[in-house]
Amino acid sequence: MEPKVEAYVTLVCTSVVLNLSILAYTYWKRHYYTNISKLFMWYTLTSLIYCLGYAFSLTSTSLEQLRFWNIVQYLGLPFFPPLGLLFVMQYLGYKLERKRTIALLAFPLLTLIINVTNKYHHFYYRVYDIHSVLGVPFSEIERGTWFAVHNIYICCCMLAALLLLCSRWKETVSVYKPQLLALICGQLLPIVTAFLLFIGVTPDGIDPVPMVLWFSSALYLWSITSSRMLSIMPIAKDTIFNNMSDGVFVLNGSYQLIEDNQACKDMFSKLDQSMIGKPFDQVWYMLTGQPFPVQLDTISDKLNTTIHQASFVYQLRISKLQQSNSNSGFLIIFTDITALHTLQQKLEHQAYYDELTQLFNRRAFFQQSEQSLMTAKASFTIILFDIDYFKQVNDTYGHQIGDQVLVHVAQICKAELREHMLFARYGGEEFVLALTGYTLVEGENFANHLRFCIEQKPLVNNEQVVQVTSSFGVSETTGAMEETIYQLLRKADEALYAAKRAGRNQVQVFTEKATSTIT
Ligand code: GH3
Ligand code: MG
Ligand code: MG
Repeated sequence: MEPKVEAYVTLVCTSVVLNLSILAYTYWKRHYYTNISKLFMWYTLTSLIYCLGYAFSLTSTSLEQLRFWNIVQYLGLPFFPPLGLLFVMQYLGYKLERKRTIALLAFPLLTLIINVTNKYHHFYYRVYDIHSVLGVPFSEIERGTWFAVHNIYICCCMLAALLLLCSRWKETVSVYKPQLLALICGQLLPIVTAFLLFIGVTPDGIDPVPMVLWFSSALYLWSITSSRMLSIMPIAKDTIFNNMSDGVFVLNGSYQLIEDNQACKDMFSKLDQSMIGKPFDQVWYMLTGQPFPVQLDTISDKLNTTIHQASFVYQLRISKLQQSNSNSGFLIIFTDITALHTLQQKLEHQAYYDELTQLFNRRAFFQQSEQSLMTAKASFTIILFDIDYFKQVNDTYGHQIGDQVLVHVAQICKAELREHMLFARYGGEEFVLALTGYTLVEGENFANHLRFCIEQKPLVNNEQVVQVTSSFGVSETTGAMEETIYQLLRKADEALYAAKRAGRNQVQVFTEKATSTIT
């Protein structure tokens, strides 16, 4: 064997051995890999057959042998570029539809058939012969129409795979970049070599592609073993990332946006690819027209907060990404808690407000008035009032009108409220006021004013006029430290009882004398 041929055979055999090793290794470890390993094995197998066929063709001693090994090569050669493209597509997360896959693989099958049956139509090789100058094992061919079509097809497949990979470079996080780079180089090398062959600048009589395939295989092998290409793929992460209901922004150490997911795009409709690489503050301003509410450079580890954005409420979680003690970026997670927040607000409202009158309820009154009583430096007065003969209102006009009267009375009083007056529905047709900073006399006057207003403003409903009056009891704090709202209320209640007994529609003030009249 000539030294030159020997060198070619060695190079091609390197590709064979490496492809075989990768195939065996992947097959052996297939249980640890994701589904993509099947496509990868087919890709490696076809490229192995191609290299193997070519290695044997270089040992041929006759035209028949040359042609035989040429056909063996075509069991692999037309298939590995489309399989490579399918592998890249699956790696990048494209859904491989059955129809698309069959269409991509039908073409190489046709090429194989046309090549095998060439002697009947010469559509693939017009002439296939031993090289007139170099002799065996070199072949000399005259390209047929399908030969050109096939070469354009495989170049397109490899180019498409390469472009797809390159298009993902910017958005791929750095940890996956070595994998991506290995795949890009693995695709680029055969393209360049096939192109050089196509334009006729490679040594005469030989196919240089199988001689460089070992390099692509070596890159893939490195990727599989060192960065676990088949088990951890960006696509696996991408799928999870894009199916999350939380919006996730990933920033690099310079506060630039490097990645976002589908949920982010759903939350912020203005978000687009052009914002990748821009400072996050600027991106946020473009999205919302407002500055980002958190100063990122002040975050030392994690931050959890709630933000209101337009009509939405988000829980915002920010984590600093640390890599060997240096800031390598931020993870910003948005969870839409609008529904939860609305429900929480509704429950809070229900807990503190009376549903019918929308006044504070008894619980809210106690909480707030206790607080006011504790902090009140000057006078503190309680007014308790009750609608007179309310049972009769219900009996005469019905419970619904009774409800309307309660709302009506509440509105009349609410409109009269002044500063530092807390007004609540005490229960049934009883209402209560806590007046911070008002003396007993001021409280009595205000109670009289309310009494007058209620009496003067009957409820007018569908030509029905419902007039009610109310009785009031007023009490004032003694200023004793240990005095409670309950005690004041009990006193006011006693005064109210006195008002009822004295004929209703009046105000009574709690005094010891009044107490003695009651008892
Ligand atoms: P008095 O002058 O002594 O206060 O007589 P009254 O009839 O107002 O007193 P009583 O305590 O006997 O009746 C209160 C009535 O208020 C009985 C109850 O059915 C009615 N009531 C309590 N809460 C509501 C409510 O939310 N809506 C309606 N429509 N009626 C209510
Ligand atoms: Mg009553
Ligand atoms: Mg009552």
